[in-house]
Amino acid sequence: MNIHEYQGKELLRQYGVAVPKGSVAFSPEEAVKAAKELGSDVVVVKAQIHAGGRGKAGGVKIARNLEEVRSYSKELLGKILVTHQTGPEGKEVKRIYIEEGSNIKKEYYLSFVVDRQTSRVTLMGSEEGGMDIEAVAAETPEKIFTEVIDPVVGLAAFQARRLAFNINIPTHLVNKAVKLMLGLYKAVIDKDASIVEINPLAVTEEDEVIALDAKFNFDANALYRHKDIVELRDYDEEDEKEIAASQYDLSYIALDGNIGCMVNGAGLAMATMDTISYYGGSPANFLDVGGSASAEKVKEAFKIILSDHNVKGIFVNIFGGIMKCDIIAEGVVKAASELGLQVPLVVRLEGTNVEKGKEILNESGLNITAATSLGDGAEKIVKLVG
Ligand code: ADP
Ligand code: MG
Repeated sequence: MNIHEYQGKELLRQYGVAVPKGSVAFSPEEAVKAAKELGSDVVVVKAQIHAGGRGKAGGVKIARNLEEVRSYSKELLGKILVTHQTGPEGKEVKRIYIEEGSNIKKEYYLSFVVDRQTSRVTLMGSEEGGMDIEAVAAETPEKIFTEVIDPVVGLAAFQARRLAFNINIPTHLVNKAVKLMLGLYKAVIDKDASIVEINPLAVTEEDEVIALDAKFNFDANALYRHKDIVELRDYDEEDEKEIAASQYDLSYIALDGNIGCMVNGAGLAMATMDTISYYGGSPANFLDVGGSASAEKVKEAFKIILSDHNVKGIFVNIFGGIMKCDIIAEGVVKAASELGLQVPLVVRLEGTNVEKGKEILNESGLNITAATSLGDGAEKIVKLVG
């Protein structure tokens, strides 16, 4: 789960991480009021969307007086901001952050990520701040430094200090940088964050070391123990189908193809998507209905797939182990009869209760193309979709 920059900064404040003063606004009037309260000569007006690259896309404006705050706020609110992270359709700006302008001397990059190779939280830093870290990694990888953190010991002060020296934080500010890193690390661990990225971390003319941007991502599997984080969720920023799926505890991810997929097991779901691509098709979603789905849940999953108007065909690929084929068949039939099925449906069932499942589908009167294997099913649905 992602949150907005202003929410991330609020969280950082609680952990003693230095961030500029600021407040969120939903209208130009609120923005002007917030700017007045800041009482700073330079105020930054920042679009709040769940995507980075706002600066380059015109989503971060420097205002030198209240009139500019008003006009920039008017310009940004309601605007569809297209950044390299939003995709071509962009994202509508519904909130803006009014923040004190910082006197930046130099920008750095800092993040904590979960490294899946080492299974450990890793601190990353670079003196190439403010730009895409992917570009730094591609062009000047020697400028990225990492510290792998022992989960028992936690981030050791010497590691934070070593990183600060490696990325050339001015010597007299290293202690401030270390304090900031330790605070960040505590926030990551306390809140089960999977990413926190500070890009840029700024050193200012006044010798502050301060987080100018904050990107958080939280592990969805740990949200049950973080009510305060769940409250920060902004449904406007998420795909409607994914919201519906999360209400039914389904692992669903919307994609931009036209073949809807209903599969059990994440591995089989990935293989199904690959096989569809192999035959020249393009999956509209990833969906793992899980091992313990009820017919009701399968029905909801099917509805979510059908609510995607790009879907021109559906491939149900179930290998029934714990999940029983008849439950899947029942759910599919229920959803199809409630919603009407206008697109071709290819079904491949295998495993527990497969005969019963096939019987339910055969007796349903639905127009179903049966498949004998994963490859056969993928090939058939790609052909039917055309
Ligand atoms: P994004 O990563 O989405 O482009 P950032 O928050 O990183 O957005 O802002 C982009 C750039 O705008 C920063 O690299 C920095 O140069 C400038 N900036 C952001 N916030 C401030 C601020 N409070 N004071 C001065 N400059 C800022
Ligand atoms: Mg940034």
